[in-house]
Amino acid sequence: MQQVTVVTGGSRGIGAAVAVRLARAGHHLALGYERARDAAEETAAAVRAEGASCVTVRADTSVEADVDALFDAAREQLGPVTGLVNNAGVTGLLGRFTETPVERMRRVVEVNVTGALICARRAALEMSTRHGGRGGAIVNISSGAATLGSPGEYVHYAASKAAVDAMTTGLSKELAAEGVRVNSVQPGMIVTDIHASMGDPQRPWRDAGRVPMGRPGEPDEVAGAVAWLLSPEASYTTGAVLRVAGGL
Ligand code: NAP
Repeated sequence: MQQVTVVTGGSRGIGAAVAVRLARAGHHLALGYERARDAAEETAAAVRAEGASCVTVRADTSVEADVDALFDAAREQLGPVTGLVNNAGVTGLLGRFTETPVERMRRVVEVNVTGALICARRAALEMSTRHGGRGGAIVNISSGAATLGSPGEYVHYAASKAAVDAMTTGLSKELAAEGVRVNSVQPGMIVTDIHASMGDPQRPWRDAGRVPMGRPGEPDEVAGAVAWLLSPEASYTTGAVLRVAGGL
């Protein structure tokens, strides 16, 4: 069966690396992005260079109609959806909890939790045999923050990622008999633009001493774990939370 995978936040960083890795493994890809159209088109070109078909759709994952448009485009242009990488995520600026504006907390929860729930819901409706689908797999991109708690940096973000892992646990059980596997990947400190968005572009190198392996990770090192979880090799793996964090 042709694998057709939706990657949210597929324009840059971990999502882009995952998309190219999946293309190499034979998936066709639908890439969602929020604003960075040029980056999304660049990633799509890299995906096509691997011989895969690819569509790009501007889709804010916190907006149900946008998510529907992303999945509709995937199905209409690529075929029945078999996978979701729930990757779109934001942190907001680094800071202590009491100095974090409530509006910033709201946006993080809206994207990281509500957005991930909306995407997983639509993916389940597409893939679950109970709803006429042919099965598939969801990989939720959580964070090591879910268990570290990230004091002084972004406790609200850590809380949002713990919610993502709770969703993985519950959904993996709810969908297990309907042909859909659900797993989480918890990246540690990975070199992407996200640190600049937090207001500290040098963070991965400055904080490398916190990582047992002594260095930040590359997006490709996360992509391999995601690709495995989506592959037939992981056919008996569901409800797993896989840490990809250099020992952190
Ligand atoms: P990034 O380089 O900042 O890229 C974020 C991606 O998410 C972009 O494609 C962005 O789209 C998209 N996005 C943001 N808000 C969105 C929204 N509302 N709707 C749709 N797309 C949205 O981040 P990254 O480091 O690759 O992070 C990817 C995931 O890994 C996130 O869930 C993050 O929390 C998680 N993670 C990252 C690290 C790390 O150290 N990098 C560690 C642990 C977990 P545009 O390009 O259009 O802006």
